[in-house]
Formats: sequence, C-alpha cells, structure tokens
Amino acid sequence: MSTAIDAFDSLLAGRQRILLLSHVNPDGDAIGSQLGLKWLLEAQGRQVIAANQDGVPVLLRADQVAPGWQEVVHNPMKPKRRGNGYDLVIALDCSDLPRLGKAYSPALAATPLVNIDHHITNLHFGAVNIVDPAASSTAELVWRLADALGWPIGPQAAQCLLTGIVTDTRSFRVGHVTPGLLGVAQQLMEAGASLAAVNELVLERRDVDTICLWGHALAELRLEERIIWTAIPQTMRARCNSVEQSDSGLANFMVGAVEADVALILTERADGLVDVGMRAAPGFDVAQVALALGGGGHPRAAGCTLALPLEAASQQVLAALKAALAQQRHAEQRP
Ligand code: 5GP
Ligand code: MN
Repeated sequence: MSTAIDAFDSLLAGRQRILLLSHVNPDGDAIGSQLGLKWLLEAQGRQVIAANQDGVPVLLRADQVAPGWQEVVHNPMKPKRRGNGYDLVIALDCSDLPRLGKAYSPALAATPLVNIDHHITNLHFGAVNIVDPAASSTAELVWRLADALGWPIGPQAAQCLLTGIVTDTRSFRVGHVTPGLLGVAQQLMEAGASLAAVNELVLERRDVDTICLWGHALAELRLEERIIWTAIPQTMRARCNSVEQSDSGLANFMVGAVEADVALILTERADGLVDVGMRAAPGFDVAQVALALGGGGHPRAAGCTLALPLEAASQQVLAALKAALAQQRHAEQRP
C-alpha cells in the first residue's frame, strides 16, 4: 500500500489536468470516492474533471451527501472539457477497465492510469494500483491517500468520503468494519461530514416505483438448494414504470432469509443484456463465480453482466452458484 501511494505521489508530481472516472451504474462509493478525490486534488491546485457514463444516481443528487455532484459529466472528451488533454487518469471503484464503460475513451490509452479500488477481483490494470480488498470502500482508500500525503480534508471532501464509506458498509453493518474505520469516520465527521444525512437521504431510501418492482420481484421468489432468487424481466419493470437504476437494496434484503446462503437477482435491461447481482451470507463467497462469468465484486457482494436471454442467464448462474456452494460447503466440512 505505502509503496503504491509513493508511486502515486511521484506520478502526480507535475501533472496538472486530471480525469477521475468511476464505474457504470455508479453507487455511493463510486461517486463519493470520485468527488472526494476531486475536492482533495483541487485543494492541491490541480484541474480536475470527474466523469461517469451514467451520471449521478437520483438519491445522490444532494449537496448534503455528495457536494459537487452537479459537476460530474457524462463525456470527458468533449473539446471544451478535454482542452489540450489529460496528464493523468484515475479509475475509482472499478475492478476492470471495461467497467468504466464509455467514460473511458480509447484516446486515453497513452495517458498514465491509476487504479484505486477495493474489489478482491481487481485486475491491477493501472500503471499504479492502490488496491486493498480489506478496505471497506474505495472512499476509505482515498482517505488513506490523503492521510499518507498530508493533504488537508475540507468539509466537502469529508462528506463525499463518508458517503462512500457509509453506503458501501450499509452504515457500518458489515464484516470489514474495524475500529480503525470508525476512527476514520469520526475524523470525517469532525471535519464537517454528516452521518445522519447519508443514512436519511441515501441508505434505505427509494421511490415508489422501485418498491412496486420489489413487490412483483418478491412475488416470484424461488428457493433452490439454499439459493434464494428472482428475475426481473422488462415487462415487470414496465408494470411499475420503474426506470433502470442502481438498487442493491432488494438483494441485501433477500440474503437475510434464514433458509438461504446466497441471494440472486437477474435483471433484464432495455438493451437485452442481463445484470446479475449476488449476495452471500457469512461464510460464503460469490466473488469467484462473478469473476468466472466475466464480472467481479467482493466475497459477500458481486455481480456480472451476461449477453443471454433471461431464462438462459438464470440457468447458467444457478448452475455455477450450485457448484460453487457445494464446493464451499465441502471445504468447510474438511478438518
Ligand atoms: P450490485 O449487486 O450492488 O450491483 O453489485 C455488487 C458488487 O458487485 C459491487 O461491488 C459491484 O461493483 C460488483 N459488480 C456488479 N456487477 C459487476 C460487473 O458487471 N462487473 C464487475 N467487475 N463487478 C460487478
Ligand atoms: Mn465500493
């Protein structure tokens, strides 16, 4: 970690125009880490553009939780933004390069790239890789960077970083919350960040259309070999007028079922691809299944995107999960 941070420090020296990118269909950690780093780098005198293929999700469009959200652009290569080009690209919360989607233009291939991420499936695709799967969030890694380099953290950066930490840990409810992380959160709150704002405005908050969709998806719930799963075809989404957006709340809810070790949701997108979201109960791991299917994630929360019809995608993922779970249960039983 410290070697990677030193390498980042050297790479940053003399580089003025910096492009920050995060993953498609961004969540609180993608936007929080990206905007947090934007504030920090601007305080260090850099010119920074933050871009995301899909923009900022509705619940994060609030100054109380993601100050600066209005400045996230879709296309960083528009001439007025790109100017004479970028000196450095930083990818945040992405385990592989394709996960940046269209925000990463092939024209950026010659520009040095720094990869800051906490997914166990990270492919170390950067010239410098600040990657730690033990970190709670990418926002925590940005905090570590600022701390190691002695950068002051103002109230806006503090809020963005706390939003990343709180959304990725579901408000400090997951296994990798350490006393150290609580100390970081305390420092961010002392710098002016609000924990209540993230809890009240982002976590566990959703629109009625999404709740309607949950109702339909839950009505179709199935349980097979301790896998609790459901599928969301486009027709179901249309019945609720629900728009495609990041919503991991249903999968988190389903994995709480005492009869299940894994929760699975398959969502048919308008472009025909199928988004796969998986969650594991304590002691189980879905990251490797996601990686084998071309996606990635964390042991307890992972996903991928498949170019198959919904039914075929369901069968493929169920088969892979059943095999992985059988193996994991078998390994558990060995002395
Ligand atoms: P969710 O189910 O909330 O969409 O995703 C759970 C986790 O899996 C997140 O950490 C997310 O970054 C990761 N993930 C979901 N879909 C993909 C994917 O298509 N590719 C990769 N690399 N990671 C994914
Ligand atoms: Mn994250």
